[in-house]
Amino acid sequence: MESGMDIFNVLGIPALVAVIIGATLGLMLGIADKFLKVELDKRVETIQSMLPGSNCGACGHPGCGGLADAVVEGKGKLKDCPPLKADQEKLIREYLANAEGPNGERLDMSKV
Ligand code: SF4
Repeated sequence: MESGMDIFNVLGIPALVAVIIGATLGLMLGIADKFLKVELDKRVETIQSMLPGSNCGACGHPGCGGLADAVVEGKGKLKDCPPLKADQEKLIREYLANAEGPNGERLDMSKV
């Protein structure tokens, strides 16, 4: 009987401590995920897919994704992309005129 208690003391307490630490960390991660979540703006991915995709950097941004990000943030214009054809630009403008950001906001199309 006494040897059974020894085994619990040797293995049980460290295992219990490990479970408590794991559960606490899991709870903290769950809380952090809920309160620190960053909403992604799906318009960036869509615009990127509509840009030429050559990632040449001529727009002054790190690839087409960089310009797409800048356009949505109001820090870049579609005209910054020399390879972008007029019909492609028109399609992107039509998309952006109707697309909403994560909070329901729309872009000022005079700045795109
Ligand atoms: S200039 Fe146009 S094609 Fe080149 S990286 Fe910028 S957005 Fe992409």
